[in-house]
Parts: sequence; C-alpha cells; structure tokens
Amino acid sequence: MPIVILQLPDVKRKNENRPKQCPYCQGQTFQRWGKVRKPVRDSRYRSVQVYRYRCCGCGHTFRHYPQGVDRADQTQRMRKLVAIYWVLGMSLRSAVIALAPFGVKLSHMSVWRDLQKQADLLEKRRHWKPVRVLGLDGAYVRALGKMRPVLVAVDLGEGEPVAVGYVDEYNPQAVRRWLEPLVKRLGVSVIVTDDLVHYKTVAQKLDLEHQICQFHVRRWVGRTLKELRVIVPEEWIWVIDEVKLLITELPLEGSRRLFELWKLIPERRAGRDQPLSPLDQLRQLLIRLSEHWPNYRVFDWQTDVPWTNNTTEQVIGRMKMRSRTVRGYKSKQGLLNGLMLAGTSVS
Ligand SMILES: [Zn+2]
Repeated sequence: MPIVILQLPDVKRKNENRPKQCPYCQGQTFQRWGKVRKPVRDSRYRSVQVYRYRCCGCGHTFRHYPQGVDRADQTQRMRKLVAIYWVLGMSLRSAVIALAPFGVKLSHMSVWRDLQKQADLLEKRRHWKPVRVLGLDGAYVRALGKMRPVLVAVDLGEGEPVAVGYVDEYNPQAVRRWLEPLVKRLGVSVIVTDDLVHYKTVAQKLDLEHQICQFHVRRWVGRTLKELRVIVPEEWIWVIDEVKLLITELPLEGSRRLFELWKLIPERRAGRDQPLSPLDQLRQLLIRLSEHWPNYRVFDWQTDVPWTNNTTEQVIGRMKMRSRTVRGYKSKQGLLNGLMLAGTSVS
C-alpha cells in the first residue's frame, strides 16, 4: 500500500504581501486600487479579502489573491479534498455529502469539474518529469457504454501513473505510435512488461532495455511444463526438471544452457497439418526461453529495475476499482483524466 499523505493546501484570509510582479508587463511598482470581498467555498472561510492593484508601468489593474485562492469559487484546499475523497473510493455523490459538515455545498457537476482540474494539474506536473524505468500493461475499462482497451504507463521509480491512452496492447503499431513520443519526452531507458511479443519488438525499435515480468513468465512456463510432463517420453523428463530450476534461479548462463538442451533433443518433422509432437513442443519452449533470456534478468545488473511488473498492476487495480463505481464520465478524455487520478496515490 502506498503511504497516503493528506496534506491540504493552506488558505489565507487575506494577503499580507504586496504583489511582486505585474502579470501583464512584469513591472514592479503598483498602486492599491481598492479591495473586494470574494465569497469562497471553503472549510474555514465564507469569504476572503482580495486587493486590487494598478500597475504604474502599463496601467492594467489586477486582483492579488491570498494564498490558496484563485479565480474559482472553491479554494484550492477544497478542490484537493474532493480529489482525495474520490481517490479514496467515494462516489461524486458521497463526496458532496462528506463536504456538507464543513458547510460547503457543491453540486455533482462542480465536484466533477474540480476532479478534472486536479487531473490537469497532475498531468502538468508529470509531463516533463524524467522517468528512467517505465512499466507498461494493458487493461479493459468500461467507458461510455462499452469495454475499451487502454494502455497504462507507470513510473516504476515513484509507483505513479504517467500516462493512460486508448491503445490496444495487441496492436504493435498502435503501441509504438503511442509509446515513441512518450519515451522520448520522459527520457525512458528501460521498460518492464509481460512477455507479449509486441513489446519486445517495440523495445528493439526504440532502443530500450526490456525487463519481462518474471511473475508472468513463471506462471505460463509452469503451466506449460506441467502439461508437457504428462506427455513427454520418460527419458526426457529430466529436461523439464532442469528448465524449472533455470526459471527459478535465472542464472546468467541460462540462455546457453537452454540452447544446449534444445540441440540435444532430436528434431522430428511433423507433417504439414499434424500437430507438434510433445518433444517438438518442448524444443519450441527451450528455444523461446533461450532467446528471451536476457530480457528476464535486466534487473540483475540494473539495480533500479524491478523483476516483476507488480507496481503497474497495482496502479491498474486502483484505476479499475474507480472506473467501476464512477458514473457520469462525459467524454473519453474525461475518463482518461479520471483514470490517471484514480491510479495516483494522493500526496
Ligand atoms: Zn504592468
């Protein structure tokens, strides 16, 4: 579980300081030009005091808001609180109810708009922040009446989502189109994925190191070995035992050893339409594991690379939990924003 730090922005009732710069011309001398009382929705204040200033340089007048207040009705503190409620699992409706004891009355729509603003803020903060190790995984979410495939990218250093897109992970061109600008912008050098073969191609094309999640590998290899054990001739069972050991221990020389085993087993050409014999299936497994071996153990020599993609799956889990309970996504983009926010541990 991520540590949830509930740190709400401070809100001041009035601004003690004069403005530093004119927002129009960067001028630094002002005249006070009156004050206004601005009603706000906040847990402590019903209104705040806002001074107006006139710039001596360009003559523009502007409002100088106190800390935690801007043009919106809700203070920054309230907007953050709404986002936290929502990320913690409340529906828009319950968030509205939970704010009532603070004397804050909001409509569903304004809660929703605040969430969108919070998501934009998050997006801006993430946009240029470098990410060295990126986890990728596909998922299906219900959006606007149907199930849609999405691709989720997670900063594995921080355990936070950096992007969600409507991309089908089974479409290699789409994956690459989406991934290439992202990887360049963030300066990614390693990706961690399950062992869908498209990811390998994309990693090669984009010149990235590629760690394949070892949970996935152990799961499918374990299943395959179990099936083969029943059908492979008795005298080759020891190969199955050895593959099992190799996958568990992931030694450096595993690739070479698997290749030797592959050469050891005699090839028997099956006819064109005939299914592969058990031994040929075993050979296929050996060569595949041998070829992918370097991608199983990137974590061994790059210390900040995890050996599984669990963190990405956890982020997707949070997203799915939210997308089940939230109604009223108005647009496809709105849903992506919601997912980003939902996948984030609030801090
Ligand atoms: Zn000015």
